[in-house]
Amino acid sequence: TTMAFALPSLPWSDDALDPYISANTISFHHGKHHAAYVSKLNAAIEGTPMAEKSLEEIIKETAGDASKKGVFNNAAQIWNHTFFWNSMKPGGGGEPTGDLKAKIDASFGSYAKFKEEFSNAALTLFGSGWTWLVDNGGKLEIVQTFNADTPITGNAKPLVTLDVWEHAYYIDHQNRRPDFIAAFLDHLINWDFAAKNLG
Ligand code: FE
Repeated sequence: TTMAFALPSLPWSDDALDPYISANTISFHHGKHHAAYVSKLNAAIEGTPMAEKSLEEIIKETAGDASKKGVFNNAAQIWNHTFFWNSMKPGGGGEPTGDLKAKIDASFGSYAKFKEEFSNAALTLFGSGWTWLVDNGGKLEIVQTFNADTPITGNAKPLVTLDVWEHAYYIDHQNRRPDFIAAFLDHLINWDFAAKNLG
């Protein structure tokens, strides 16, 4: 027998990101949405050969397979959300330092240009999806993915992500996605996590 996937714990307390992301939002987003992806994936793979695999293996093996879309969506959403929680920390935001700052300057021209480009990508993503900062062979790039899609099915290495599904911000910011994006960049983004992923 194999262990079912478990809902990963948050890296901070429920109210740690208040007022930018409230404990109420976290209770729904982690406690209901993220949890539902876990229970749905477990139900879908129980008793199948996929129950023996890692989350990353499941995501990569089901990507692009229309007959496995449900499994892919739930597995990728588990991975994306865990990565998103780690992409934020209390007292985060602002400019990175060190190697990350140098790579941002080299790739975008300046931190200000990076911020403008990231904000614009997050703002113009139509519908549900994710905005990512990725390392594509030494050059940093901003990538949009739709619905559950995730960069780990490709070659670029994700550094940080922002969930721009409405469930991520509607309780705290209603329809004001720009406010949520600004809060993420100015107060929440965890550059330590990005630097660790940069390696
Ligand atoms: Fe979400």
